Amino acid sequence: MFNDKNDTNTYNCPQCGDQLSIYFKYSKLVKCQSCGSSIFLEDESVTKIGESSVLSSEPSLIKLHQPFKLQAKTFIPLGKIRYGYGRGFWEEWFLRDEKNQEFWLSVDEGDFVLEAKNKLALPFKDFSQFTVGSRHGKYLVSEKGEGTCMGFEGELPENIHLGEKHQYIHLSQGGGNLVTLELSKTSSQTFKGKWVDPLDIEELT
Ligand SMILES: [Zn+2]
Repeated sequence: MFNDKNDTNTYNCPQCGDQLSIYFKYSKLVKCQSCGSSIFLEDESVTKIGESSVLSSEPSLIKLHQPFKLQAKTFIPLGKIRYGYGRGFWEEWFLRDEKNQEFWLSVDEGDFVLEAKNKLALPFKDFSQFTVGSRHGKYLVSEKGEGTCMGFEGELPENIHLGEKHQYIHLSQGGGNLVTLELSKTSSQTFKGKWVDPLDIEELT
């Protein structure tokens, strides 16, 4: 199923020397399991970029490196980012499927959205135009919010900046289809996907 032997890269932590295993060849950031340092990966070189904040662990349906089945596909969670906001936090899990494709599962309490990066061209760039309830072509703005990056676990295909604010906007297309826009000082990204029923997530052991 997962040819981890072929896909895994191994480095040594520049801080403590322990082994760092990378399960996705495009990963850019990894947390050392031994010393907690954040390690940036670039062109076969590894650099420590800081200490990682330790995220409090919460009971979660999704667990790092524990494969699960959803919509007839098998996913393996390789990392997650936590964003804090008013009443708590939400998490974005970085997943890989059997074909080594990158997916993101956003978990906000009981709300699960499975999305993949998308190069969708939007007719507007200014996020202030998106007010909840407004319509833009086939899209309806169903949610808008902001969170602060609190930390990460595992490995990620992109760098993160602790304390950076991320704005997100959900655009509904109907039928559970969703487009999410994410905007921070350093990046803007578009994702496309679907709401997921957590009961459809089948743990594989
Ligand atoms: Zn280390």
